[in-house]
Amino acid sequence: MLENTPLFTGDYGRPITARFSRSALVHNARRAKQLTPAEGQVLGVIKADAYGHGLLESAAALRDQVDGFAVLELEAARQLRQHGCDAPILMLEGFHSPAELNVFATLSLSTIIHRLDQIDTLAQTDLPLPLPVFLKLNTGMNRLGLALTDAQTAYERLRALPQVGEVTVMTHFADADNARGTAWQLERLLAAWPEVMNCRTSFANSAALLKGPADRRALGDVVRPGIMLYGASPWGDSVVGKTANDLGLQPVMTLGSELIAIQDIQAGERVGYGGTFTADRPMRIGVVACGYADGYPRHATSQTPILVNGQRTTLTGRVSMDRLCCDVTHIPTARVGSAVTLWGDGLPADAVADSAGTIAYELFCALAPRVPRVWQD
Ligand SMILES: *Cc1c(COP(=O)(O)O)cnc(C)c1O
Repeated sequence: MLENTPLFTGDYGRPITARFSRSALVHNARRAKQLTPAEGQVLGVIKADAYGHGLLESAAALRDQVDGFAVLELEAARQLRQHGCDAPILMLEGFHSPAELNVFATLSLSTIIHRLDQIDTLAQTDLPLPLPVFLKLNTGMNRLGLALTDAQTAYERLRALPQVGEVTVMTHFADADNARGTAWQLERLLAAWPEVMNCRTSFANSAALLKGPADRRALGDVVRPGIMLYGASPWGDSVVGKTANDLGLQPVMTLGSELIAIQDIQAGERVGYGGTFTADRPMRIGVVACGYADGYPRHATSQTPILVNGQRTTLTGRVSMDRLCCDVTHIPTARVGSAVTLWGDGLPADAVADSAGTIAYELFCALAPRVPRVWQD
């Protein structure tokens, strides 16, 4: 009996759903391509389950728009290959053990090299076919990458190894989305290695790409946009001219739910755990089926925007595991069953993230497995 009972049909059950727009993903990928110099290549970054959007669905939608993909989970690369993806796939964290190198070669993956000893490992391993290598240099992020003093020697050594195919020189920007910018890192690179621009290069993330102007030297031959594909801005929602909308990006993920209760409360009544919100007048409080166990940020402040029946209002009180509350005093149409948008269409995830002291990247990646997902158009 139990096995014949559908657990979720979309018509009943808890009303929370994450909807994903294929056409928005395609639109954003076209924006990335437009911003890339004509002869450049775009690797769509779909690590972390395509920033929470779903690996295979996202890859399928992006397939005709990008020249390849970048992930860092071996399982993600395996799944892409298993589902017929024959595009280049760059492994953003490289290999973690010699045994992994053989799997990379078997799956035709490109690897990052970010430590000198990885070149020794490569040199000591027999591979069925040569691996394309992205040589990652530390130009100031101080996270992954070879010291610039080792760069040229490492490059020459890689080029001479039979285990190595095409070599691309790569670096990652630390400040592409703030005033410090990207030029200082490129200056360091050029100072240490004046002829580096004769190599195949890969520099730009979304922020560098969206900043323009598209100078090949500043972006590299291979660009690696992530967040912009999903329709959020590396600058968040508060920098004039740099919001997702200003940048011509469309939200891919819309997290929606419904009001499941309404409380009419008197002035002086408090809402939620710890009573952090106190009504200063009689209020109507809408209770939404969405909480931090769905991926909604618990640190969202009472200024955090939310849409009820398409009208903007704000959170009241603390977000709890399964529920959050909002002010619907000024929304007379609000009733049980009213549509609520947590972020997405009509409400930028960046605006919610700003109010919660985080970034849209984190909101997307934190979308919880228990939230049903639907792809549209
Ligand atoms: C995640 C990642 C990107 C994409 O960054 P966005 O800011 O999402 O565009 C690019 N390059 C590397 C090395 C990354 O790890």
